[in-house]
Amino acid sequence: MATEWLKNYPAGSIVQKAYAFAAEAHQDAKRASGDPFISHCLAVAETIHNWRVDETSIAAALLHDVVEDTEKTLTDIKKEFGEEVAFLVDGLTKLDNFKYSDKEVQIENLRKLIVSFAQDLRVIIIKLADRSHNMRTLDALPREAQTRIAKETKDIYAPLAYRLGMQRLSGELEDLAFPYLAPKEFEWLVKEVKEQFAERQAYAEKIKPIVEKALRTEGINAISIDSRAKRYSSLYKKLLRYEMDLDKIYDLVALRIVVRNVSDCYAALGVIHHLWQPMPRRFKDYIARPKPNGYRSLHTTVFCVDNKITEFQIRTSEMHEEDELGIAAHWAYEQAKDEKRRQKNWVGVKSRKELLWVEQLRNWQKDFPDQQEFIESLKTDFFKDQIFVLTPENDVIDLPIGSTPVDFAYRIHSDVGDECIGAKVNGKIVPLDYELHSRDIVEILTQKGKKPSADWLRFIKTGLAKNQIRSALKEKQDRFRSKSETSGLEFKIVNQNRPGYLKDVTRVLGEMKINPLYLKSQTDARGALAALTIRTELLPKSRLEPLLVRLKKIPGTKEVGYKFNR
Ligand code: MN
Repeated sequence: MATEWLKNYPAGSIVQKAYAFAAEAHQDAKRASGDPFISHCLAVAETIHNWRVDETSIAAALLHDVVEDTEKTLTDIKKEFGEEVAFLVDGLTKLDNFKYSDKEVQIENLRKLIVSFAQDLRVIIIKLADRSHNMRTLDALPREAQTRIAKETKDIYAPLAYRLGMQRLSGELEDLAFPYLAPKEFEWLVKEVKEQFAERQAYAEKIKPIVEKALRTEGINAISIDSRAKRYSSLYKKLLRYEMDLDKIYDLVALRIVVRNVSDCYAALGVIHHLWQPMPRRFKDYIARPKPNGYRSLHTTVFCVDNKITEFQIRTSEMHEEDELGIAAHWAYEQAKDEKRRQKNWVGVKSRKELLWVEQLRNWQKDFPDQQEFIESLKTDFFKDQIFVLTPENDVIDLPIGSTPVDFAYRIHSDVGDECIGAKVNGKIVPLDYELHSRDIVEILTQKGKKPSADWLRFIKTGLAKNQIRSALKEKQDRFRSKSETSGLEFKIVNQNRPGYLKDVTRVLGEMKINPLYLKSQTDARGALAALTIRTELLPKSRLEPLLVRLKKIPGTKEVGYKFNR
């Protein structure tokens, strides 16, 4: 049992008291591995100590299983250690009952998870340390439990750690879960990669002195230059996208350069690009545009010695630490800066733009009157793989993979979503069902008073957008009914049945700021021609005539007719 770190805390401190209390409470208990139970509490607390979170959290970590597993109650803890420690232990006890496999339990506990951490993020930080140790000692458990815990770790805790900016922990958790969830694939990968790893590691060692010397010549002192092997889990995910061809993975071993400050980062980048030719479109500036979880670094890929494609990551030691500790680093930082501002809620959250999603999360919850729907949206919006796009002002917006400009618009503001009539991606007009990619710059074109289209429900990805569109449509329908089948226009367009025709029509409507209330296309028996019916509100002649002209100009249009509709 490693207790060396405990010596940092004097006798009589809350940490020492918590250790004594937990050791006595768990006295005779053993873990499945046969180790004394307290070894688990010590391991979790040591992790919290290493992350430099406050003493209250270290005490709570030592006590985290006491209420769940021993005779002691929460009241005992409150009496002995005060409200704050008891609050954290209570949150952790509740999270302990969280079993992902059971759907009923899952939803209820997922809610608890979110609500509890929205109140105090330290609960989640300690839970992650707990999970990390449990994953390391998973071998001792029966097969069924292994699979369940590994799946939960991969689906919930690894993404959560990532979102909290704890990238390293997130990767570790995924790697720990991998062999349990896909043993055959894991075995294959380890065997396959072994030689490649060794070879590339040796190659990286060869590169290091060259980089070091070149940096020194430019007056840049590198704090460290390390080679970093890509994690098995992320390597496997990538291989799936590259026909399982290891030769296509350029960052199997990446070189990581840590320097003193930001200007040295860019200077070092210049040195690397001077030494070796960079690969086009592989440079990523996460310093100017950090990932939403706060991750900062420069990434670039170059044609290195012997023309081998090699990735470099350049960062300051502060960024390096943040990558490891994420939100815990900010906690420690705020803590040191202003001891008096210590309070129940983590003080740094509001001041960090990168962690805005914590606020977002709380706001989302308010947007969903129905808890069930909130949880559903959480599963799609929050826990899925993300892409990162930019507003024209360079703000980073994260969205689930496959998101469209409409999802983006609703993420900005519900009004922007409702009034969205078109979108520009990287300066070019795109259809609203366009699939966004990371680093796209997205601009939304709006029209005041415009209402969303039911058609959007077909392609949007986020639960947030779905929820907003539905409620806006319902409002529209209600108004529509109350006006008793308002009169409007109905267009009938006979056209060649070609792909993209419908999009061209909606683009014309969008550009002319005309909102289709109804849109339907029917093909004839042979499928060569289609009849498109569009209903709009009543249009003045000054708008109707140009519309007819433009519709007729669309390639494939055979005939355009219209009538007044009652
Ligand atoms: Mn535990």
